[in-house]
Amino acid sequence: MDRLGGHHVWTVTRDGEEGPWVVHAVTGADGGEERAVRVRARAVLLATGAYERQLPFPGWTLPGVVGAGGAQAMLKSGLVLPGRRVVVAGSGPLLLAVAASLAAAGATVPAVVEASAYTPYARELPALARNPGKLGEGALYGGGLLRHRVRLLTRHAVTAAHGSDRVEAVTVSRLDRDWRPVPGSDRRVPCDALAVGHGLVPQLELATGLGCATRRTADGTLALDLDPAQRTSVPGIWAAGETGGIGGAQLALAEGELAAASIAYELKGTPRPRWAAARVRRRARLRRFAEAMAAAHRPGDGWTGWLDDATLVCRCEEVPAGRIKEAVAELGASDARTVKLLTRAGMGWCQGRMCGHAVACLAGGAPGEERRPLSCPVELGHLAQLPPSAG
Ligand SMILES: Cc1cc2nc3c(=O)[nH]c(=O)nc-3n(C[C@H](O)[C@H](O)[C@H](O)COP(=O)(O)OP(=O)(O)OC[C@H]3O[C@@H](n4cnc5c(N)ncnc54)[C@H](O)[C@@H]3O)c2cc1C
Repeated sequence: MDRLGGHHVWTVTRDGEEGPWVVHAVTGADGGEERAVRVRARAVLLATGAYERQLPFPGWTLPGVVGAGGAQAMLKSGLVLPGRRVVVAGSGPLLLAVAASLAAAGATVPAVVEASAYTPYARELPALARNPGKLGEGALYGGGLLRHRVRLLTRHAVTAAHGSDRVEAVTVSRLDRDWRPVPGSDRRVPCDALAVGHGLVPQLELATGLGCATRRTADGTLALDLDPAQRTSVPGIWAAGETGGIGGAQLALAEGELAAASIAYELKGTPRPRWAAARVRRRARLRRFAEAMAAAHRPGDGWTGWLDDATLVCRCEEVPAGRIKEAVAELGASDARTVKLLTRAGMGWCQGRMCGHAVACLAGGAPGEERRPLSCPVELGHLAQLPPSAG
């Protein structure tokens, strides 16, 4: 078996109508010489993970404002803190983990600012009771925050970041149920960094490019629609982990093992392993918890009230909220695709990964299916080698 590390799969095609899959990858995306690799396969297991959902607010482009997951990655990979006094904000359980890690590494965390309330978890007592490990994880982070005297503000959001060369303070506002800022509730919190993220979004472009069916999850994002054997709706394509809905590392592992067992059975007739039944039970238990978590942290529609017209929504193409609102109100755009054509929002380097959710909300709809024929930029020569049917 070959393990190809450091390769980025930019598309998956099919060799003829019934032929094998062809996985097209490139190396050197970090500036080295680009080399193309093609792997032919009877089955493909997609486990492309997720990326952070960002909701813009005035000042979010200032140096010192980093993704919550990014802050954790900086800390884990190089023991680098994004600042000395770091506000952690957004929504989702990742915030607690990030704040606990930052505080343990020596940063002062004046507050964790969570836009949702934790009360919806109370409606999911069966899912909580069946996942004591998750409760223990939460208690561990909670204990860490208490020890470091970190305040947890629920139903609050950072609605603006201030500073000239980098962030110097943030405005924290109380939110109503729909995440609309409550007038008169603003307070200013000094800091030199802000770690912010509003949950994770499954990375689906390879799968949707192949026509795999999706489902809407409890937090309004799209995930792959998978059968109990982790098969997508396209024969020969399996998926596991965050692609089937955000659920954490244990769920991703269980799904990966079940998908691998399913592929081995279909391709080689390998009997179902003895541990499969236990993994199926674990997957069901963890998936139930994941759905409860997604419902609790679903972004409220009122977050658009954080924006002023000058707030950049698409950072790559520098498109402010005012231009998008104009495209909707005056030019009749009613979906993200039309807004993109009229304003270029989502047309830049990240291809809407950063602004896609926000643009869809501003256009008045739910985030739609990701349409990125290529999952990363590639040289024209590689494109030219695709069979015409794949173009
Ligand atoms: C900062 C942070 C902290 C977390 N902490 C916890 C925690 O405490 N507990 C917990 O349970 N979970 C935690 N999670 C979530 C956990 O990491 C995920 O649930 C788990 O890693 C999901 O596994 P996955 O295989 O689906 O995706 P990932 O582990 O994200 O793996 C996806 C991989 O696919 C690669 N990839 C994507 N697209 C392509 C492509 N086109 N070509 C080639 N490679 C590609 C990515 O580079 C990545 O290596 C955390 C996540 C983050 C971001």
